[in-house]
Formats: sequence, structure tokens, C-alpha cells
Amino acid sequence: MAYDYDDQNIFAKILRGEIPNQTVLETEHTLAFRDIEPQAPTHVLVIPKGSYVSYDHFAAQASDAEIIDFTRAIAKVCEMEGVTLSAGEGFRMISNAGAHGVQEVPHLHVHILGGRPMGRMVQ
Ligand code: C5P
Repeated sequence: MAYDYDDQNIFAKILRGEIPNQTVLETEHTLAFRDIEPQAPTHVLVIPKGSYVSYDHFAAQASDAEIIDFTRAIAKVCEMEGVTLSAGEGFRMISNAGAHGVQEVPHLHVHILGGRPMGRMVQ
């Protein structure tokens, strides 16, 4: 299966510095920034710098270094935001993919939500 990456998507523009963002963390392969329409006190988006549409694309084609960096960056953001279990909190991670996942921006992103009880996922 071929993955069609649109380099005009808004997160590609953020990565190129064409659109500003509120960066929380930047590593070699990963950028984390605040969602412009936060749904919770903590709402951070974590994206790989590489051109991947979705998690399945990333898992199939990213290097081990990118995958490790991305995974650890997500945990680091949780720690920085004070939402980890060890901080007595908790968080939700979501990554929407494609039409059925109702993905708005076609560049892989993980939403990290926390700072309040999230409620049950009903849909
Ligand atoms: O998972 P989905 O693709 O639906 O989420 C996209 C997210 O990107 C939304 O939560 C939206 O608020 C966020 N966004 C952003 N900055 C932009 C455009 C969208 O934080 N410039």
C-alpha cells in the first residue's frame, strides 16, 4: 500500500517554520506543540518530523531511531506537563487516522490530553 503524503498540510508548514506554533518539546526527529483549540488543560500534539500520514505509515516506514525518539518524546511531554501516573494524574493519547478515524490534518500526530478526567470514550 502506498501512502500519499501532502506536503502542503498544516503540520508540514509548521515543520518548515511557515506557520508559528507553541513548541513544548523539540528533539532530533520529533516536535511537540500546543493544540490551537485545546480540549483539556493539557492538549499537546506530538508529530514526527518525517513525512508520515498516519501511525501505520510511520510504523511501516520510519527508522528505529525515529520511532524510539517519537515514543520517548510522547512520554517526556507527559512528564513535562505533570500528567503522568507517577505525578498522580493520568492522560489520554489519541491518534486519528484517515476517514474512519476522522483525521483532520494528514500528518501523523498524537494528541496528549490531560489535566482533568477525560470521561469514557463513547464513539
Ligand atoms: O486528529 P485531528 O487531525 O482531527 O486533529 C487535528 C488537530 O490539529 C485539531 O485538534 C486542531 O485543533 C489542531 N490544529 C492545530 N494547529 C493548527 C491546525 C490544527 O493545533 N494550525
